[in-house]
Amino acid sequence: MKKQDDWHWQLENSIRTAEQLEEYIELSGTEREQILAASRRFTWAITPYYAALMDPDDPLCPLRRQAVPDAEELYDPLGVPDPLDEGKHQPVELIIRVYPDRVAFCVGNRCPVYCRHCLRKETMVGQEDVELPEAKIQKGIDYIREHEEIRDVLLTGGDPLLMEDDRLEGLLQRLHRIPHVEVIRIGSRTPCTLPQRITPELCTMLAKYHPLYLNTQFNHPAEITAEAETACARLAGAGIPLGNQSVLLKGINDDAQVMRELCRELMRLRVRPYYLYQCQVLSGTRHFRTTIERGREIMAKLQGYISGLAVPKYLIDTPYGKVPLSPNYVEGRRGDDVVVRSWDGKEWKEPNPPEEGEIPHVTDAPHRSCLQNCESGCACGD
Ligand code: SF4
Repeated sequence: MKKQDDWHWQLENSIRTAEQLEEYIELSGTEREQILAASRRFTWAITPYYAALMDPDDPLCPLRRQAVPDAEELYDPLGVPDPLDEGKHQPVELIIRVYPDRVAFCVGNRCPVYCRHCLRKETMVGQEDVELPEAKIQKGIDYIREHEEIRDVLLTGGDPLLMEDDRLEGLLQRLHRIPHVEVIRIGSRTPCTLPQRITPELCTMLAKYHPLYLNTQFNHPAEITAEAETACARLAGAGIPLGNQSVLLKGINDDAQVMRELCRELMRLRVRPYYLYQCQVLSGTRHFRTTIERGREIMAKLQGYISGLAVPKYLIDTPYGKVPLSPNYVEGRRGDDVVVRSWDGKEWKEPNPPEEGEIPHVTDAPHRSCLQNCESGCACGD
Protein backbone atom coordinates (compact mmCIF):
# COMPACT_ATOMS: atom_id res chain seq x y z
CA MET A 1 0.00 0.00 0.00
CA LYS A 2 1.27 3.48 -0.86
CA LYS A 3 1.61 5.76 2.17
CA GLN A 4 -0.99 8.13 0.65
CA ASP A 5 -3.56 5.33 0.79
CA ASP A 6 -3.35 5.16 4.58
CA TRP A 7 -5.87 7.41 6.29
CA HIS A 8 -3.61 7.87 9.29
CA TRP A 9 -0.88 9.16 6.98
CA GLN A 10 -3.36 11.58 5.44
CA LEU A 11 -4.24 12.97 8.89
CA GLU A 12 -0.67 13.05 10.13
CA ASN A 13 0.28 15.05 7.02
CA SER A 14 -2.68 17.34 7.22
CA ILE A 15 -2.06 20.76 5.65
CA ARG A 16 -2.29 23.59 8.17
CA THR A 17 0.00 26.31 6.82
CA ALA A 18 0.20 28.32 3.60
CA GLU A 19 3.72 26.94 3.04
CA GLN A 20 2.44 23.34 3.17
CA LEU A 21 -0.43 24.23 0.86
CA GLU A 22 2.00 25.71 -1.68
CA GLU A 23 3.26 22.21 -2.37
CA TYR A 24 -0.10 21.66 -4.09
CA ILE A 25 -1.35 25.01 -5.38
CA GLU A 26 0.02 28.38 -6.43
CA LEU A 27 -0.68 31.14 -3.91
CA SER A 28 -0.28 34.85 -4.46
CA GLY A 29 1.13 37.06 -1.69
CA THR A 30 -2.39 38.33 -0.99
CA GLU A 31 -3.77 34.79 -0.73
CA ARG A 32 -1.05 33.88 1.73
CA GLU A 33 -1.97 36.88 3.88
CA GLN A 34 -5.66 36.02 3.62
CA ILE A 35 -5.07 32.45 4.76
CA LEU A 36 -3.15 33.72 7.74
CA ALA A 37 -5.82 36.29 8.67
CA ALA A 38 -8.81 33.92 8.31
CA SER A 39 -7.07 31.04 10.05
CA ARG A 40 -6.55 33.20 13.14
CA ARG A 41 -10.34 33.29 13.44
CA PHE A 42 -11.49 29.88 12.14
CA THR A 43 -9.99 26.39 12.23
CA TRP A 44 -8.57 24.93 9.06
CA ALA A 45 -6.95 21.76 7.82
CA ILE A 46 -6.91 20.01 4.45
CA THR A 47 -5.95 16.43 3.67
CA PRO A 48 -3.14 16.01 1.12
CA TYR A 49 -5.63 13.92 -0.89
CA TYR A 50 -8.16 16.76 -1.16
CA ALA A 51 -5.46 19.39 -1.81
CA ALA A 52 -4.15 17.32 -4.71
CA LEU A 53 -7.57 17.51 -6.39
CA MET A 54 -7.49 21.31 -6.49
CA ASP A 55 -6.65 23.23 -9.63
CA PRO A 56 -3.19 24.61 -8.76
CA ASP A 57 -3.63 27.71 -10.92
CA ASP A 58 -7.24 28.69 -10.37
CA PRO A 59 -8.12 30.63 -7.20
CA LEU A 60 -11.81 30.04 -8.03
CA CYS A 61 -11.43 26.25 -8.18
CA PRO A 62 -14.57 24.88 -6.48
CA LEU A 63 -12.59 22.56 -4.22
CA ARG A 64 -10.12 25.25 -3.28
CA ARG A 65 -12.92 27.64 -2.32
CA GLN A 66 -14.54 25.02 -0.05
CA ALA A 67 -11.34 24.32 1.88
CA VAL A 68 -8.83 27.20 1.75
CA PRO A 69 -9.41 30.01 4.28
CA ASP A 70 -10.39 33.30 2.70
CA ALA A 71 -10.43 36.84 4.12
CA GLU A 72 -14.08 37.01 2.98
CA GLU A 73 -14.85 34.93 6.07
CA LEU A 74 -13.92 37.89 8.24
CA TYR A 75 -16.59 40.23 6.87
CA ASP A 76 -20.14 39.02 7.42
CA PRO A 77 -22.41 41.54 9.16
CA LEU A 78 -25.49 39.31 8.86
CA GLY A 79 -23.93 35.99 9.84
CA VAL A 80 -24.61 34.61 13.31
CA PRO A 81 -22.57 31.97 15.17
CA ASP A 82 -25.45 29.54 15.78
CA PRO A 83 -28.20 30.07 13.17
CA LEU A 84 -30.10 26.95 14.27
CA ASP A 85 -30.06 27.87 17.95
CA GLU A 86 -28.51 24.49 18.62
CA GLY A 87 -27.43 25.74 22.03
CA LYS A 88 -31.10 25.86 23.04
CA HIS A 89 -31.78 22.33 21.82
CA GLN A 90 -29.23 20.51 23.93
CA PRO A 91 -30.83 18.58 26.77
CA VAL A 92 -27.35 17.27 27.58
CA GLU A 93 -23.97 18.06 26.10
CA LEU A 94 -23.42 16.48 22.64
CA ILE A 95 -27.14 15.78 22.07
CA ILE A 96 -29.14 18.08 19.80
CA ARG A 97 -32.85 17.45 19.86
CA VAL A 98 -35.29 19.26 17.59
CA TYR A 99 -37.74 16.46 16.75
CA PRO A 100 -39.58 14.13 19.13
CA ASP A 101 -38.27 10.81 17.81
CA ARG A 102 -34.68 11.48 16.80
CA VAL A 103 -31.51 13.18 17.95
CA ALA A 104 -28.18 14.30 16.54
CA PHE A 105 -25.37 12.96 18.70
CA CYS A 106 -22.19 15.05 18.18
CA VAL A 107 -19.60 12.38 18.91
CA GLY A 108 -16.80 13.87 16.81
CA ASN A 109 -15.21 17.28 17.02
CA ARG A 110 -12.58 16.94 14.31
CA CYS A 111 -12.78 16.79 10.53
CA PRO A 112 -10.28 15.79 7.82
CA VAL A 113 -11.05 19.01 5.94
CA TYR A 114 -12.65 21.96 7.70
CA CYS A 115 -15.20 23.14 5.17
CA ARG A 116 -15.32 26.92 4.99
CA HIS A 117 -19.13 26.75 4.88
CA CYS A 118 -19.48 24.38 7.87
CA LEU A 119 -22.47 24.96 10.11
CA ARG A 120 -20.33 24.25 13.17
CA LYS A 121 -17.29 26.31 12.15
CA GLU A 122 -17.62 28.44 15.28
CA THR A 123 -17.93 25.52 17.67
CA MET A 124 -14.93 23.72 16.21
CA VAL A 125 -12.52 26.58 16.84
CA GLY A 126 -9.73 25.27 19.05
CA GLN A 127 -11.18 21.72 19.13
CA GLU A 128 -9.27 20.24 16.24
CA ASP A 129 -6.71 18.23 18.17
CA VAL A 130 -8.90 17.07 21.00
CA GLU A 131 -10.68 13.72 21.15
CA LEU A 132 -13.97 13.86 23.03
CA PRO A 133 -13.68 12.26 26.47
CA GLU A 134 -15.49 8.97 26.93
CA ALA A 135 -17.44 10.28 29.92
CA LYS A 136 -19.18 12.91 27.75
CA ILE A 137 -20.10 10.32 25.13
CA GLN A 138 -21.47 8.01 27.82
CA LYS A 139 -23.73 10.80 29.11
CA GLY A 140 -25.20 11.12 25.62
CA ILE A 141 -25.79 7.37 25.43
CA ASP A 142 -27.45 7.43 28.86
CA TYR A 143 -29.78 10.22 27.69
CA ILE A 144 -30.80 8.22 24.63
CA ARG A 145 -31.35 5.09 26.75
CA GLU A 146 -33.56 7.00 29.18
CA HIS A 147 -35.79 8.40 26.39
CA GLU A 148 -37.75 5.57 24.85
CA GLU A 149 -39.32 7.81 22.21
CA ILE A 150 -35.94 8.20 20.45
CA ARG A 151 -35.97 5.78 17.53
CA ASP A 152 -33.30 7.26 15.30
CA VAL A 153 -29.80 8.47 16.25
CA LEU A 154 -27.60 10.48 13.90
CA LEU A 155 -23.91 10.34 14.75
CA THR A 156 -22.38 13.58 13.67
CA GLY A 157 -19.90 16.14 14.86
CA GLY A 158 -17.31 16.89 13.45
CA ASP A 159 -16.75 13.64 11.68
CA PRO A 160 -17.53 10.45 13.64
CA LEU A 161 -15.40 8.36 11.27
CA LEU A 162 -12.24 10.00 12.58
CA MET A 163 -12.62 7.72 15.59
CA GLU A 164 -10.54 4.59 15.50
CA ASP A 165 -12.51 1.46 14.58
CA ASP A 166 -12.50 -0.02 18.09
CA ARG A 167 -13.75 3.16 19.74
CA LEU A 168 -16.44 3.64 17.12
CA GLU A 169 -17.50 0.02 17.48
CA GLY A 170 -17.80 0.43 21.25
CA LEU A 171 -20.16 3.34 20.65
CA LEU A 172 -22.21 1.53 18.01
CA GLN A 173 -22.50 -1.54 20.23
CA ARG A 174 -23.92 0.49 23.10
CA LEU A 175 -26.43 2.25 20.88
CA HIS A 176 -27.40 -0.93 19.06
CA ARG A 177 -28.22 -2.63 22.37
CA ILE A 178 -30.80 0.03 23.26
CA PRO A 179 -34.10 -1.64 22.28
CA HIS A 180 -35.93 1.52 21.18
CA VAL A 181 -33.11 2.74 18.88
CA GLU A 182 -34.33 1.37 15.56
CA VAL A 183 -31.94 3.15 13.20
CA ILE A 184 -28.42 4.55 13.45
CA ARG A 185 -27.21 7.07 10.90
CA ILE A 186 -23.68 8.37 10.42
CA GLY A 187 -22.95 11.77 8.92
CA SER A 188 -19.44 11.74 7.47
CA ARG A 189 -17.66 13.64 4.74
CA THR A 190 -14.81 11.13 4.65
CA PRO A 191 -15.97 9.47 1.39
CA CYS A 192 -15.31 12.87 -0.21
CA THR A 193 -12.40 14.38 1.73
CA LEU A 194 -10.64 11.28 3.12
CA PRO A 195 -11.88 8.23 1.20
CA GLN A 196 -8.91 6.21 2.49
CA ARG A 197 -10.79 6.06 5.81
CA ILE A 198 -13.34 3.68 4.29
CA THR A 199 -11.27 0.54 4.73
CA PRO A 200 -12.59 -3.01 4.23
CA GLU A 201 -12.12 -3.53 8.01
CA LEU A 202 -14.26 -0.50 8.84
CA CYS A 203 -17.02 -1.72 6.51
CA THR A 204 -16.97 -5.24 7.97
CA MET A 205 -17.37 -3.70 11.43
CA LEU A 206 -20.16 -1.29 10.40
CA ALA A 207 -22.13 -4.10 8.74
CA LYS A 208 -22.70 -5.65 12.19
CA TYR A 209 -24.88 -2.72 13.25
CA HIS A 210 -27.66 -2.61 10.69
CA PRO A 211 -29.94 -0.87 10.02
CA LEU A 212 -27.15 1.65 9.58
CA TYR A 213 -27.26 4.50 7.08
CA LEU A 214 -24.53 6.90 6.03
CA ASN A 215 -24.99 10.39 4.64
CA THR A 216 -22.05 12.16 3.12
CA GLN A 217 -21.39 15.48 1.43
CA PHE A 218 -20.17 15.88 -2.13
CA ASN A 219 -20.73 19.40 -3.45
CA HIS A 220 -19.09 19.31 -6.87
CA PRO A 221 -18.51 16.67 -9.58
CA ALA A 222 -14.73 17.26 -9.35
CA GLU A 223 -14.89 15.52 -5.96
CA ILE A 224 -16.00 12.26 -7.56
CA THR A 225 -12.72 10.39 -7.99
CA ALA A 226 -11.63 6.78 -8.29
CA GLU A 227 -10.84 6.84 -4.54
CA ALA A 228 -14.29 8.19 -3.68
CA GLU A 229 -15.84 5.56 -5.92
CA THR A 230 -13.96 2.77 -4.12
CA ALA A 231 -15.01 4.15 -0.71
CA CYS A 232 -18.69 4.30 -1.72
CA ALA A 233 -18.56 0.84 -3.33
CA ARG A 234 -17.17 -0.61 -0.08
CA LEU A 235 -19.89 1.02 2.02
CA ALA A 236 -22.67 0.04 -0.39
CA GLY A 237 -21.18 -3.46 -0.57
CA ALA A 238 -21.54 -3.68 3.23
CA GLY A 239 -25.27 -3.04 2.79
CA ILE A 240 -25.15 0.56 4.01
CA PRO A 241 -27.62 2.82 2.18
CA LEU A 242 -25.79 5.98 1.15
CA GLY A 243 -27.21 9.48 0.81
CA ASN A 244 -25.67 12.80 -0.10
CA GLN A 245 -26.35 16.15 1.53
CA SER A 246 -24.96 18.95 -0.61
CA VAL A 247 -24.87 22.58 0.42
CA LEU A 248 -25.82 25.16 -2.19
CA LEU A 249 -22.69 27.30 -2.53
CA LYS A 250 -22.35 30.43 -4.62
CA GLY A 251 -19.83 30.07 -7.42
CA ILE A 252 -19.30 26.39 -6.57
CA ASN A 253 -22.49 24.52 -7.37
CA ASP A 254 -25.23 27.15 -7.81
CA ASP A 255 -25.58 26.08 -11.40
CA ALA A 256 -28.05 23.59 -12.87
CA GLN A 257 -25.49 21.87 -15.12
CA VAL A 258 -23.08 21.37 -12.24
CA MET A 259 -25.83 19.99 -10.00
CA ARG A 260 -27.13 17.67 -12.72
CA GLU A 261 -23.68 16.26 -13.30
CA LEU A 262 -23.08 15.87 -9.57
CA CYS A 263 -26.40 14.08 -9.00
CA ARG A 264 -25.87 11.74 -11.97
CA GLU A 265 -22.37 10.88 -10.81
CA LEU A 266 -23.59 10.20 -7.29
CA MET A 267 -26.21 7.82 -8.61
CA ARG A 268 -23.48 5.97 -10.49
CA LEU A 269 -21.69 5.56 -7.13
CA ARG A 270 -24.91 4.27 -5.52
CA VAL A 271 -25.18 7.42 -3.42
CA ARG A 272 -28.68 8.84 -3.47
CA PRO A 273 -28.83 12.65 -3.71
CA TYR A 274 -30.86 13.29 -0.59
CA TYR A 275 -30.76 16.95 0.43
CA LEU A 276 -29.62 20.21 -1.10
CA TYR A 277 -29.28 22.61 1.81
CA GLN A 278 -29.69 26.34 1.56
CA CYS A 279 -26.46 27.81 2.98
CA GLN A 280 -27.21 29.14 6.47
CA VAL A 281 -26.80 32.77 7.51
CA LEU A 282 -23.81 31.68 9.52
CA SER A 283 -20.77 33.75 10.53
CA GLY A 284 -18.10 33.82 7.84
CA THR A 285 -20.18 32.45 4.97
CA ARG A 286 -21.52 35.61 3.30
CA HIS A 287 -19.53 34.87 0.12
CA PHE A 288 -21.14 31.41 -0.20
CA ARG A 289 -24.76 32.38 0.24
CA THR A 290 -26.99 32.44 -2.78
CA THR A 291 -30.68 33.33 -2.95
CA ILE A 292 -33.51 30.90 -2.32
CA GLU A 293 -34.95 31.97 -5.69
CA ARG A 294 -31.74 30.82 -7.35
CA GLY A 295 -31.94 27.51 -5.51
CA ARG A 296 -35.52 26.96 -6.66
CA GLU A 297 -34.56 27.78 -10.26
CA ILE A 298 -31.85 25.13 -10.09
CA MET A 299 -34.29 22.60 -8.66
CA ALA A 300 -36.72 23.34 -11.51
CA LYS A 301 -33.90 22.44 -13.90
CA LEU A 302 -33.30 19.10 -12.17
CA GLN A 303 -36.88 17.84 -11.91
CA GLY A 304 -37.68 15.97 -15.14
CA TYR A 305 -34.20 16.47 -16.58
CA ILE A 306 -32.65 13.69 -14.52
CA SER A 307 -34.16 10.59 -12.90
CA GLY A 308 -36.48 11.38 -10.00
CA LEU A 309 -34.27 9.23 -7.80
CA ALA A 310 -31.40 11.62 -8.51
CA VAL A 311 -33.28 14.79 -7.54
CA PRO A 312 -32.48 15.90 -3.97
CA LYS A 313 -34.92 17.72 -1.70
CA TYR A 314 -34.05 21.41 -1.50
CA LEU A 315 -34.53 22.68 2.01
CA ILE A 316 -33.51 25.10 4.67
CA ASP A 317 -32.73 24.14 8.22
CA THR A 318 -34.27 26.40 10.86
CA PRO A 319 -34.34 26.36 14.67
CA TYR A 320 -37.74 24.64 14.28
CA GLY A 321 -36.55 21.92 11.92
CA LYS A 322 -36.09 21.48 8.18
CA VAL A 323 -38.41 23.26 5.77
CA PRO A 324 -38.73 22.16 2.11
CA LEU A 325 -38.18 24.91 -0.47
CA SER A 326 -39.21 22.93 -3.55
CA PRO A 327 -40.51 24.86 -6.55
CA ASN A 328 -44.28 24.93 -6.88
CA TYR A 329 -45.84 23.00 -9.75
CA VAL A 330 -49.45 23.51 -8.65
CA GLU A 331 -50.99 26.65 -10.18
CA GLY A 332 -54.33 26.38 -8.40
CA ARG A 333 -57.93 25.29 -8.86
CA ARG A 334 -60.00 26.01 -11.96
CA GLY A 335 -63.55 24.79 -11.37
CA ASP A 336 -63.37 21.08 -10.59
CA ASP A 337 -59.82 20.84 -11.87
CA VAL A 338 -56.48 21.52 -10.30
CA VAL A 339 -54.07 23.05 -12.80
CA VAL A 340 -50.47 21.83 -12.64
CA ARG A 341 -47.42 22.67 -14.73
CA SER A 342 -45.08 19.90 -15.95
CA TRP A 343 -41.28 20.02 -15.71
CA ASP A 344 -41.11 21.37 -19.30
CA GLY A 345 -43.81 23.99 -18.80
CA LYS A 346 -46.90 22.19 -20.17
CA GLU A 347 -50.21 22.81 -18.44
CA TRP A 348 -52.29 19.87 -17.22
CA LYS A 349 -55.77 20.03 -15.71
CA GLU A 350 -56.27 17.21 -13.27
CA PRO A 351 -59.89 16.46 -12.34
CA ASN A 352 -59.76 16.62 -8.57
CA PRO A 353 -61.65 13.90 -6.70
CA PRO A 354 -64.58 15.37 -4.79
CA GLU A 355 -64.49 15.56 -1.05
CA GLU A 356 -66.21 12.70 0.77
CA GLY A 357 -70.02 13.02 0.54
CA GLU A 358 -69.93 15.49 -2.35
CA ILE A 359 -71.11 13.43 -5.33
CA PRO A 360 -71.05 15.42 -8.55
CA HIS A 361 -73.82 15.47 -11.16
CA VAL A 362 -74.26 12.48 -13.51
CA THR A 363 -72.68 14.17 -16.49
CA ASP A 364 -69.52 14.76 -14.45
CA ALA A 365 -69.27 11.31 -12.88
CA PRO A 366 -71.65 8.85 -14.52
CA HIS A 367 -70.75 5.69 -12.58
CA ARG A 368 -71.11 7.18 -9.14
CA SER A 369 -74.29 9.10 -10.05
CA CYS A 370 -76.01 5.93 -11.23
CA LEU A 371 -75.92 4.72 -7.67
CA GLN A 372 -78.19 7.63 -6.81
CA ASN A 373 -80.83 6.69 -9.44
CA CYS A 374 -80.29 10.06 -11.02
CA GLU A 375 -82.96 10.79 -13.58
CA SER A 376 -81.11 13.32 -15.65
CA GLY A 377 -79.82 10.67 -18.07
CA CYS A 378 -76.73 8.63 -17.58
CA ALA A 379 -74.24 8.35 -20.38
CA CYS A 380 -72.49 5.30 -18.97
CA GLY A 381 -75.25 2.78 -19.63
CA ASP A 382 -75.04 1.19 -16.15
S1 SF4 B 1 -17.07 17.71 7.19
FE1 SF4 B 1 -19.04 18.43 7.94
S2 SF4 B 1 -18.72 18.85 10.10
FE2 SF4 B 1 -16.71 18.73 9.13
S3 SF4 B 1 -16.17 20.80 8.56
FE3 SF4 B 1 -17.15 19.90 6.79
S4 SF4 B 1 -19.30 20.42 6.99
FE4 SF4 B 1 -18.36 20.75 8.99
